[in-house]
Amino acid sequence: MIVRIAGINHESVTDGPGLRTVIFFQGCHHACPGCHNPQTWDAAGGEEVALNDLIRCFRITPLLSGFTFSGGEPFLQAETAAYIAEYVKSKGLNLWVYTGHTWEQLMTRLIEPGFQDLIHLADVIVEGPYQQELRDLSLPYRGSSNQRILLAKASLRQKRVVLWGKS
Ligand code: SF4
Repeated sequence: MIVRIAGINHESVTDGPGLRTVIFFQGCHHACPGCHNPQTWDAAGGEEVALNDLIRCFRITPLLSGFTFSGGEPFLQAETAAYIAEYVKSKGLNLWVYTGHTWEQLMTRLIEPGFQDLIHLADVIVEGPYQQELRDLSLPYRGSSNQRILLAKASLRQKRVVLWGKS
């Protein structure tokens, strides 16, 4: 399997709690005005990496809290993202997934390849497009106030949005 990525940050402390490995998936169709990562939009850009090579480069240490899938739009490569997510969970690490889709949009697309698996494997989903008129630098882990940070499993179980940090 091949994944197309824009890059990896092995030592992020800003894309979720604790020390995290962030995978920036290449390709995004949301085209949010004011996006900070427009170089990730081109689905043919970035670099192609074999999944086995990608996994071999991960630095799994006791200091690592988890992984974050960012972008770009991880759900454009949902099947490969889900494969990596299975590896992350097999290591007992938590997984945050950023997406420009809203939770309600994701729930209408569960039959698409990889969507259901990726959503079920995620612990937290940071959802919604970046809206520069709602930009708020005081918000943790998101750029604009329309974006919500959801507990994925509780939201699935309760069939409603359950916000991270509020349960
Ligand atoms: S979803 Fe994220 S990467 Fe895609 S255009 Fe919006 S802000 Fe940029």
